[in-house]
This record gives sequence, structure tokens and C-alpha cells, in this order.
Amino acid sequence: MDLILASQSKMRRHILECSNIAVTIVSPNIDEESITKSLISENASLRDIPDTLAEYKAKKISNKNPGRSVLGCDQVLVFKNQIYGKPASRKDLIERLRLLQGQNHRLITANVIYKDTKPIWRHVAITHMTMHSFNNTEIQDYVDRAWPSISDSCGGYYFEKTPHLFSAVRGNWFDILGLSIGPVLGFLNQTSERKPLTVPPIVAVLGHPISHSKSPQMHRYWLNKSKLNGDYIAIDVPPKHFSNTIKVLASVGLSGFNVTIPHKEAALTLADKVSTTADKIGSANTLTVAKNCDIYADNTDAYGFMENLRASSLNWDAKSGPALILGAGGAARAVLFSLVEAGVPKIYLCNRTRARAEELMETSSLLIDVIDWEDKELWLPQITTLVNTTSLGMIGKPALDINISTLSKNALVADLIYSPLETDLLRAASKKGCQVVGGIGMLLHQGVPGFEGWFGVRPNVDEEIERLVLE
Ligand code: NAP
Repeated sequence: MDLILASQSKMRRHILECSNIAVTIVSPNIDEESITKSLISENASLRDIPDTLAEYKAKKISNKNPGRSVLGCDQVLVFKNQIYGKPASRKDLIERLRLLQGQNHRLITANVIYKDTKPIWRHVAITHMTMHSFNNTEIQDYVDRAWPSISDSCGGYYFEKTPHLFSAVRGNWFDILGLSIGPVLGFLNQTSERKPLTVPPIVAVLGHPISHSKSPQMHRYWLNKSKLNGDYIAIDVPPKHFSNTIKVLASVGLSGFNVTIPHKEAALTLADKVSTTADKIGSANTLTVAKNCDIYADNTDAYGFMENLRASSLNWDAKSGPALILGAGGAARAVLFSLVEAGVPKIYLCNRTRARAEELMETSSLLIDVIDWEDKELWLPQITTLVNTTSLGMIGKPALDINISTLSKNALVADLIYSPLETDLLRAASKKGCQVVGGIGMLLHQGVPGFEGWFGVRPNVDEEIERLVLE
């Protein structure tokens, strides 16, 4: 499918590309401000203003491109029957947000397709947005962070980056982003013999912070490799807005979510249905949205840990002897669950903060003994599996201080850390002749069930994706 997009918007281009449409971008350069002023002076309806602007854009480019379909789009924000375009200045944005906070406004998104200088299709979508209440300091902080990059957005926000500004939304993700891809595809499918194109599923990873996350690279690589339409994005959401933001994003059509620190426990409590694994681990990292917007929560960290172990070490036998787990944080819960499931006969749990390990033991299995952090080396001679789930040994963190000279060379040593790829613990264990397993494979494998559930294809964990994630 070939289409000219009469717009400079990177987001509109991205939406079309995620829908597997080959798109040519041509900037229409029309004087939007004077056209809008003249339409207002002629008492044009609010709906007609973006529709006419979209038409101007498509028509101008269509005139120069006979035989080609040209899509023009426009979006305006309407608050109390007044139209708002892009904010002219920082001050303008602050004033606008003071008006919009705690109130409802509408986004009107117009889409027009021209061919051979004639309009052949048009669609207007209206989205109802309710913004949270914000005080002046919160607005000032937001503008300090967002300006000037936000200056080309008519609302003074990018919904895809800060959905937590909104308490409720009635509408569709793509309409909010400025291009009504569902109706556009519906029309293009009617006019073509080829296999119908479908609306791209959108999945997001939510965390706070989130910029370090490798998940977008991973899932986009799998989407490309499998030639699937769809997108995977990262969104930073503060804890107090997490649950409501998930509900808002599910209501506008997102297909699912990955959830990372610090939202994994909250993800479990907001779900309508919870897998046995997530329930036993006490947290969720993978959410799937059903057609009726119900949310199903799962935890794939335990799967990721065990798959990585199995893929890396050919002759590891869970039942061969006791395991020692260092750490009792979120990751330790998943490791503990998967080792118990795999049939490890006894687990020693050792954490700097003993109370945290004891709490974990109470919620888990009878196979577990808690030992003091200072005593961790005493148990090394009798174990056959050692797993570091602490952050010790990671780049920028203190070293893991452990002498493994009494550990059997037949033991398996796993470290969840993947930065560096080979930790001091793994290096020392390799030197002894132990089988060693690094953390990168767990990260990759935990993504597999989620991707398959959202996009319908089971992806492969190969060397190329490992290289990509490590870049
Ligand atoms: P977490 O819940 O914050 O737990 C951190 C753990 O590290 C706790 O047991 C903590 O002990 C311990 N710790 C931190 N500083 C310590 C110190 N100075 N001395 C002794 N112990 C210390 O974090 P998490 O989610 O479990 O993650 C832990 C590590 O696993 C991180 O490095 C993370 O990157 C990695 N991870 C990797 C994957 C993967 O896919 N490969 C997945 C998840 C996590 P206290 O309880 O005493 O504070």
C-alpha cells in the first residue's frame, strides 16, 4: 500500500509505518493560522475547522501528484467551545494548562484523502479528555521539563509520553495521536485487492524511571523480524498515577503492558484476573488487555530465569542438591518460585536484611531456610546451585564480597546481573570449572510469552537480539 502523507508530523508517519504502509512524506506548508481565523470569522463549526485544514493539506499535495492517494490530517483542542492551536510560548502553555487542569476538553482529529485533486474519503474523530487537577508548582515543573519540545502539540502535551496527566479519556489512542488509523485502513482495504491491513497493536512498558529499559529495542526487533505490524513504547509513570494510567491506556485501546520497578506489586492488585504464578510470586510484569478492557496479570520473570538456565546449561539438574539464593528482593521471589517449581530439594535464602528473607520464606515453601548474610559462605560446600539476585556486582554498585573456594566445581552459578555481562562472581566460578549463567538471557526470555500473547507470534531468543540489547 502506497500513500502520500501531507504532513511533517513524525508521529503520523510512525503510525502509518507501524501499520505496514509505505509512506511518502510531503510537507504542505499551508498558512494554518490565517485559514483558521478566516473559518472562525465565517462562523464555521468547530468540527469543520480541522476538517477544512486537513482538506487544504491533502488538496495542495494531490494537485502535484496525479494518480496518488494523499492523506491530510489536522487536530485541534476544544475547551469551552474555543479552539486552541499550538502554544505560542512557554507563558502561553502555562496559562493553557491552568485552564485545562481538572477539566474536560475535546480533541478533534480530521483525516481527508484526496486523489486526482478530488476528496475521496474523510473522517472526523472526537476524543474526550479529562485532566487531573494540578497546582501552579506542578504545572511549572511540567513546563520546565517539557518546553520547548512540546511546542508543536496543540494540547501542550504528548499523550504517549505523559498519559498520567489524565484521569479519564473517552476515545482511541490513534485519534489522540493525530491520525485515525482504524478508519483510514478501513477505507484503504475497501479500495485494494491485497490482504486487508489491520490496526497495529500497541504495547507499553511502564516504570519509574524507564529510560534504561531494553524492552522497546527487544520487542521492536521481534516485530521487525516477524514482519508484524505494531509498536512497543516506554512510558515513565510515577507510582501515584500507575493504576489509573493503566486503566486509561487500556480504555483507549492498548493491547498490553510490561511493568517494571516500582510498579510490579501494584500491577497485581489492579488486575481483574491473575495467573497462579503471579499470585504465588506476589507481583506481575506482564499485563494483557481483553476486548472488554479486563486486565490479566502474569509474571514471566520465573519463566525467563528457568528458560535461561535451561538454554545455557545442558546438564543442570534441579534435583541434584540444595540451592543458595543471595538476596530477597523482587527478583529473588521469581527465582525462588522457579527453583521450587523445578524441584530443587532445599533452598537457603540469604539477605542483608534478614527480616525481608524471613517474610519471603513465610509466603513461599517449606523447603526454605533463612541464613544470616555473614554466614553465606558456610553453606557453599553442600549446594549445587548458587544464584545472585542482589544488585551487588553491577556496574556502579558495590562488589559482591564472597569467597567461593569451597563451592563444588560441579555446581551451577547464575547471576541476574547483565551489566557487566560477566560479573566477578561468574568469572571466579568459571575459573573453578563451574557452569555459569549470566543475566541477559533471563531478560530476553521473560519477554517471550508477553510478545506471543500480544502479537500472536512466538519470537526467538538469538545471538542477534542479545547483541542488540547490549548495545
Ligand atoms: P530489589 O527488589 O531492590 O532487591 C535488591 C536486593 O539487593 C535486595 O536483596 C537487597 O538487600 C540487595 N542489596 C542491595 N544492596 C546491597 C548491599 N549493599 N549489600 C547487600 N545486599 C544488597 O531489586 P530486584 O528487582 O530484586 O533486582 C535485583 C537485581 O537483579 C538487580 O541488579 C536487577 O538489575 C537484577 N534483575 C535482573 C533481571 C534479568 O532479567 N536479568 C530481572 C530482574 C532483576 P536488602 O533487602 O537488604 O536491601
